[in-house]
Amino acid sequence: MDLYSSQISRLIAELADLPGIGAKTAQRLAFHILNMPEEKVKALSDAIIDAKHNVRYCNECFTLTDEEVCPICRDQSRNHKVIMVVENTRDQVAYEKTQKYDGVYHVLHGAISPMLGIAPNDIKLKQLLKLLQ
Ligand SMILES: [Zn+2]
Repeated sequence: MDLYSSQISRLIAELADLPGIGAKTAQRLAFHILNMPEEKVKALSDAIIDAKHNVRYCNECFTLTDEEVCPICRDQSRNHKVIMVVENTRDQVAYEKTQKYDGVYHVLHGAISPMLGIAPNDIKLKQLLKLLQ
């Protein structure tokens, strides 16, 4: 027997599916959302849907962006001959925060891991090799 109504249980279950969110955190977030003003809930759901619909890979570096070419690749003041290969967009942002790097990036979206069954074809390695030719 569910302790909560079916809609509350559904909200908790959806939140608990997110990485790093356990059952207790999912319940806390669900009740927080239920106590939020309607416009804040709509802004949150719109942000999720808009990001899902509009975020794509940059045509040049494959970072996540909502434009064809990301602002870093468009920036002509950067050194486009130096390419830092990073595992994911979060790593790229971490390097950008240091403000010590003026080259561009190539985002692999993963790391080769035979233990986890992640092969070179599972990440953006082919695109990097094409870039280096
Ligand atoms: Zn880019």
